[in-house]
Amino acid sequence: MAMALATGGSRGIGKATALQLGREGYTVVVNYRENHAAAEAVVAEIISKGGRAFCIQGDISNEAQVNGLFATLDHQEESLTALVNNAGVLFSQGTIEQLSAARINAVLATNVTGYFLCCREAVKHMSYQHGGQGGAIVNVSSAAARLGAAGEYLDYAASKGAVDTLTVGLSLEVAAQGIRVNGVRPGFIYTDMHASGGEPGRVDRVGPSLPMQRGGRPEEVAEAIAWLLSSKASYVTGSIIDMAGGK
Ligand code: NAP
Repeated sequence: MAMALATGGSRGIGKATALQLGREGYTVVVNYRENHAAAEAVVAEIISKGGRAFCIQGDISNEAQVNGLFATLDHQEESLTALVNNAGVLFSQGTIEQLSAARINAVLATNVTGYFLCCREAVKHMSYQHGGQGGAIVNVSSAAARLGAAGEYLDYAASKGAVDTLTVGLSLEVAAQGIRVNGVRPGFIYTDMHASGGEPGRVDRVGPSLPMQRGGRPEEVAEAIAWLLSSKASYVTGSIIDMAGGK
């Protein structure tokens, strides 16, 4: 059986993805940073529906913690064959004049360095040259990478631009090692993340102005992630699916 790791799986898009992968038969590893009770609730929901799951705390911006997280996976019966690089942060809305080096670096530490570190460790688990059986990685980017998030969070948008470049470059680097690397670029999804930007109702504000005239649900993003991980997408790598209601 296959094992899938979803970073930031305790809420929002990561939670919806963990539940989806649980339904599809993966053993799901639910990573979280702080909220143990929320991660345990996701695990309990997967198990209550007949699936298999456990959770592991770990801050993906911390190299030692990422190494520890993946070392734990070494001791499981199943091999890691799927990584959903999903955990991400943004901070309060503003212009470039409000950005400090500390804040920019904090965004990059999770959204970029964290993604790199998790990809690195996943490749060590999955690649043929390390004795792995191959696998698939999905990097959760954002429509902000294309749109720029002017007046909201340029640092966050730029971090997601870096994620897209990682997706393309890594897909080429590990294609012959049996690993597919793809991305999704959601936009305007109903999660708690927008409260971190200082506007919990952001999706309701922006939704009606989108071509599809509504915000998206985490479950809609999870469906695309699960498809990219699955054998149904066996000839897809280096692709990024836009999911922003047509914007
Ligand atoms: P969310 O509701 O704020 O959830 C974030 C998750 O990431 C939580 O489980 C959190 O765990 C975890 N996390 C944050 N920093 C972490 C770290 N350093 N190490 C480990 N876990 C960490 O976010 P979301 O809206 O579901 O977003 C998920 C992904 O989708 C992000 O990459 C985001 O940029 C992207 N995205 C979201 C939207 C949207 O409209 N919501 C649009 C485009 C892209 P704790 O609660 O334990 O801290």
